Amino acid sequence: MQYATSAAPADTPERYRDPRPGRLETPDARLTGRHGADTDGPRRSLWEMGTVPATRAPLEGTPGHDTRDHPVEDGQDGRPVEANHLLWLLARESGAEYAALLRVLEPVALPRDAVLHEPGAPIPYVYFPRTSVWSLVKVMADGRRVEVGTTGFEGMVGLPVFHDAETMPFQCFVQVAGAAWQLRADTFRGAVAQGTAFHRIMQRYAQYLFDQAAQSVACNRLHSVDERCARWLLMTHDRVGRAERFPLTHEFLALMLGVRRAGVTVSMGALQAAGLIRYSRGNIAVIDRAGLEGASCECYHSERADYRRLLG
Ligand SMILES: [Zn+2]
Repeated sequence: MQYATSAAPADTPERYRDPRPGRLETPDARLTGRHGADTDGPRRSLWEMGTVPATRAPLEGTPGHDTRDHPVEDGQDGRPVEANHLLWLLARESGAEYAALLRVLEPVALPRDAVLHEPGAPIPYVYFPRTSVWSLVKVMADGRRVEVGTTGFEGMVGLPVFHDAETMPFQCFVQVAGAAWQLRADTFRGAVAQGTAFHRIMQRYAQYLFDQAAQSVACNRLHSVDERCARWLLMTHDRVGRAERFPLTHEFLALMLGVRRAGVTVSMGALQAAGLIRYSRGNIAVIDRAGLEGASCECYHSERADYRRLLG
């Protein structure tokens, strides 16, 4: 199986042109060799293992920087493990589709605060985060902004393309620097054609995102800032692979939760006084993970259970 890219020369099927001018790339030999169409694919996802795409330091770089030296993470048994959970599922459900997709996925390293999608603008690429964490933000008419979703290695960015939309109503930016797979939107449309394993996985992921949005509506109406703060920290902690610490300012968290900065400062102070987190110089360290889970509202646990039900 092979996906067509609109930019690929028709007479050189094993070569793929990078959509950006002046670049030509070929499939990485190690990559295709390790994940050929005849392989079983990785046996356990990093999500399932409870480990971490982010054991290494977040990658620094600019959008488009090539990280092909480490296309997949090494599993505990020495076999390569796909760091993005949706692609890991694809490898498990259809090794042939996964192998074909690997030939057109482009590894990129994304710096913090990079904006990859603007509201109403055409979507040229979709992304499958590996170690990067992304925020989806709704920008209101008066300029106020609030986060409506967080995505890391458990998901993808650019779902409107799956639903045949050309644009999305949100801004998407990189909250935590790291790696992702980049895929041309038109290539993605071909890869998720009806009847493919990839289509079925994306359908389940779309349902999860709808459930997550509904859960957040209820959470924002019914639960306290303290509980929502704990929930958000847990969600981000998961998406950075439960790393020792991750960058976060009170201003950013206030934006994410749609509350005033003073409210966030009070909540973070309470969580720190309880010994659950430590906050210093724009970084958060989770000290007592079980305690933080106890401090969160039910929404963190509901969302996690929903993900497991739909996507394993
Ligand atoms: Zn809640």
